[in-house]
Amino acid sequence: MPADPARLGLYVHVPFCEAKCTYCHFAIDPHRPDDARQERYGRALRAEMEAAPAAGADTLYFGGGTPSLWAGARLAQVVDLARRRFGLPVGAEVTVEANPADLDAAGYRELRDAGATRVSLGVQSFDDAVLAEMGRLHSSADSVRAVERARAAGLANLSVDLILGWPGETAARWRRSLEGVAALAPEHLSLYVLEVEGRTLLTHRARSGALDLPDDDLVADLYRRTVETLSALGLERYEISNFARPGFESRHNAKYWADLPFVGFGMSAHSYRDGRRWWNIDTFGGYCRAIEERGPAAAVAGERMLSPRERAEEALFTGLRRREGVDVVAFQAVHGMDVLADYATGLAAPFAAGLLERCGSRLRLTDRGVLLSNEVFQAFV
Ligand code: SF4
Repeated sequence: MPADPARLGLYVHVPFCEAKCTYCHFAIDPHRPDDARQERYGRALRAEMEAAPAAGADTLYFGGGTPSLWAGARLAQVVDLARRRFGLPVGAEVTVEANPADLDAAGYRELRDAGATRVSLGVQSFDDAVLAEMGRLHSSADSVRAVERARAAGLANLSVDLILGWPGETAARWRRSLEGVAALAPEHLSLYVLEVEGRTLLTHRARSGALDLPDDDLVADLYRRTVETLSALGLERYEISNFARPGFESRHNAKYWADLPFVGFGMSAHSYRDGRRWWNIDTFGGYCRAIEERGPAAAVAGERMLSPRERAEEALFTGLRRREGVDVVAFQAVHGMDVLADYATGLAAPFAAGLLERCGSRLRLTDRGVLLSNEVFQAFV
């Protein structure tokens, strides 16, 4: 059942982590996730959800941070609230991001009983030395055990995250990662090409010249081979970074790529509805204090109404991330923009370079264009 375009996607940010990964630039609480902090955050989060304008929703995504630290009662409270406040149907897609070492067999059963239908595991690599360099607190054996436990609990929709292009990447090492994926047989995979950016330990090391980053050609070659290998495993690319067996595409993330509304709760969460974007305070103390002292509306740090043109351009960028691309006829009907005519000058180069193609009324990235998508998107600026 595809997501209903008239209903919201709900995002809930759980900002706690046991330790900071060396590549991480997400908004997390830097303190130890003790019970008092988690309880305080949960109260603020639920107050924010209670105060949100009434609307129907049909997906819920717990991201972070490490939502698996919330397995059990806290997670169940939020799912119940989403059902009551937003009419989230029983059986709707409820995704929980999890670190492989966090949950025992009972923990996965608690996730299932709380309403989770989909688990996204931060596997990242099948090389234990790489996992240690990443600052991950799990081993490749933990990833195997996590999948076994999730399956034993009856969770039949599993996604794994992998990072391509870690320092010292080689074809042999990456092949072992893909063999690891084959053994886990997930329904979905998210593939992230490492970007050394933001204020991370990895960026610091890169600046001091201490990183042996793989060159772009090797990464491009490994990406191409990955697409082929995953396809042979039944996992087809349906978005630049995402692969799935038919029917297991992420319904929640599809809303982001299809210009559909979503509302986020918790520190740093972003929302988009009726052309308005807004985002929350991105520190633990700032977020909790704002709600405790001034009420749920004070969690919002900023907002912006997009102009019709900005809205169209964002829809174009996100739409082109999908394998199916953008139907330019339908796009014009919604946004009043003739993409091929309006951007004729800018699009000439990516067409000539074989990065973009027409397929009927659809405009989409070619396989080469996927690897050089930033170059293509420049054509629209
Ligand atoms: S577990 Fe995720 S959110 Fe937490 S530090 Fe690592 S990458 Fe960042």
